[in-house]
Amino acid sequence: MYSTCLFCHAPLGVNESIEHFPVGRRLAFDSGKGRLWVVCRTCERWNLSPLEERWEAIEECERRFEGTRMRASTDNIGLARLPEGLELVRIGPALRPEFAAWRYGDQFGRRRRRTLIQAGLGFGALGAVVAGGIAAGAGIGGFGWMIMQSGRYLVEGNPRAVVGYVPGFDGQPLAIRRLHLKHTRWQTDPSTGEHRLAIGFKRGTITLTGEEARRQAGILIVHANRRGGNRTEVQRAVDRIQEAGSAEVLVASMATQREPPPVWRKESAVRNVEAFGMHPERRLAFEMALHEEQERRALQGELIALEHAWRDAEEIAKISDNLLVPESDEEWLRKQREKP
Ligand SMILES: [Zn+2]
Repeated sequence: MYSTCLFCHAPLGVNESIEHFPVGRRLAFDSGKGRLWVVCRTCERWNLSPLEERWEAIEECERRFEGTRMRASTDNIGLARLPEGLELVRIGPALRPEFAAWRYGDQFGRRRRRTLIQAGLGFGALGAVVAGGIAAGAGIGGFGWMIMQSGRYLVEGNPRAVVGYVPGFDGQPLAIRRLHLKHTRWQTDPSTGEHRLAIGFKRGTITLTGEEARRQAGILIVHANRRGGNRTEVQRAVDRIQEAGSAEVLVASMATQREPPPVWRKESAVRNVEAFGMHPERRLAFEMALHEEQERRALQGELIALEHAWRDAEEIAKISDNLLVPESDEEWLRKQREKP
């Protein structure tokens, strides 16, 4: 097998994912027609592979594609990114996208453990301060308020901590603090159906739309879910997405038409208000779905260009393969086509 691009002579790179075809960083395959290309990442042109090296490799590509969590498809072309970095372009009718639950378990579990450890260390230090104060003869009364307040910060995080920025009322960046997460709502515009992110500040509400709303929601939701989740909570959140059918549907169904509660209210008035106005379990599901959707949109964006490239490459492959296909390969192709 060649190792450089036939068009621009740049190296095609190697992969360790496809045992029978260790060349290339992006492979395109069509098991229906029995084609396999290496897509050059320098000039993006498709290098048709030699016939005799294709068959096992195509089957391997198909298996890896089906087993991959992160993939996007149009009706007749799909793109998947394997964990090792190899990208697979699959030609053929789309497979049903599945939502892979297991990828989230670890991430949320780690986050949860980290918060618990931080809170534990904090409580330890707080205990030492209290003990020191009592030893020094200070009354416990004076400490009372401080202890309660600090204890709450340790569990919920400091409400004044900055968690993001947004273009403010005067065009200057405006700091979003943790306390604002209670005043943040994922909304639907009742007239257009478009999604928005509304964040309530003392001076009024700032509403983001389109890509900016999704991007900012993706950042803030991680802070809102700082406690992560245990295995059961993560599983329940995953179930919610599966019941919804897709990440996109869940993201849409989590939107509200309500406005965020105003910030000028006394803090005690919003004490029981949840960040994003969502219960923790729903919020976990929302974070998963939002990130899943974003990744898929990124892949989706590439698919249109890929579809054009494939149509050109297929024209050439049809001609060159038909000059070369031996009878045994015709047989293989026929079997492939008969597969259910
Ligand atoms: Zn090239």
